Amino acid sequence: MSRSRHYRIAVIPGDGIGKEVVPEGLRALEAVSKRFGCTFAFDQFAFASCDYFLEHGVMMPDDWKDQIGGHDAIFFGAVGWPESVPDHVSLWGSLIQFRREFDQYVNLRPVKLMPGVPSPLAGREPGDIDFYVVRENTEGEYSSIGGRIFPGTEREVVVQETVMTRVGVDRILKFAFELAQRREKKHLTSATKSNGIAITMPYWDERVEDMARAYPDVRWDKYHIDILTAHFVQHPDWFDVVVASNLFGDILSDLGPACAGTIGIAPAANINPERDFPSLFEPVHGSAPDIAGQGIANPVGQIWSAALMLDHLGERQAASAIVAAIETVLAQPRLRTRDLGGPLGTVDCGAAIAQALLEAR
Ligand code: ATP
Ligand code: MG
Repeated sequence: MSRSRHYRIAVIPGDGIGKEVVPEGLRALEAVSKRFGCTFAFDQFAFASCDYFLEHGVMMPDDWKDQIGGHDAIFFGAVGWPESVPDHVSLWGSLIQFRREFDQYVNLRPVKLMPGVPSPLAGREPGDIDFYVVRENTEGEYSSIGGRIFPGTEREVVVQETVMTRVGVDRILKFAFELAQRREKKHLTSATKSNGIAITMPYWDERVEDMARAYPDVRWDKYHIDILTAHFVQHPDWFDVVVASNLFGDILSDLGPACAGTIGIAPAANINPERDFPSLFEPVHGSAPDIAGQGIANPVGQIWSAALMLDHLGERQAASAIVAAIETVLAQPRLRTRDLGGPLGTVDCGAAIAQALLEAR
């Protein structure tokens, strides 16, 4: 197979600490390139940032889709500077546009307890927690269909519909089952609430059962969302791949990384699995105005996002190497950033991870 291993990456640092951690992500990718032979062209874009907004009055130029639509992936820092641009303007003018226009219907977040990162769950060791949350990103509970009748009166009625389409449900389930199939445990858990939400959730369950037939080697189960959140806290070691609708996935994809520790290290991906459009890789954290410009942000979330990007591009070995290098560095107290009680700043921590990548065998 002669697959090209040259990747064009649209790099969008955005705001605040995004501008500090993105270069550390690129440094890790350059180290990967030296070791694994894949090559990258990094095209930097200044739009999708509040600075761009203040200069141009919009978050992105009219032709933003032409500018980045042909790239293999988008490597994103963080967007938002609420002091000068309201969050709904910056978010809706950038990330939400990417998600919609590039049909990034999978939101993927790994939940993995790393060495040196204190978990709020007592007694958990690295290795105990290692799973993925797969969230449906385009339909479900987050539809804008509905409205108010007799607003402002005693008879007020408010309705909002959940929308599930067969295409929409099946494509997220397919992604989740395929991910489970690639993993060692081959275990998929589906979040439901068919005992309370009597129309859409039984349909979701039905589609899971149907999809499972195509993956006989994947063991699967389902839990109601209420007990599932309890299990995240009490038995995080049970999980391997957890798939959920938009609302349930939203909750689980914040709860999961919280169980595994600090916000500075968690990565995320918004994926279009068919690769009709570029997917987007970003840390879970935001622009962190309170620490921006000080050189102290933890770069691990951004670097780990680079690993998710490599995995999506088919560079699986390189992706695992980045995660391993992060583990190597976090295991050493003197190589951690301040949020983890260490002495290093953003650049030195990023350099340590790149070094670990080059030295690992
Ligand atoms: P969002 O942009 O999603 O609305 P937010 O702006 O409310 O999020 P963040 O920017 O993620 O929040 O910051 C939340 C807190 O976590 C802040 O106190 C910030 O300093 C801290 N934090 C976030 N990212 C990092 C990081 N990479 N390293 C160290 N601390 C961080
Ligand atoms: Mg913010």
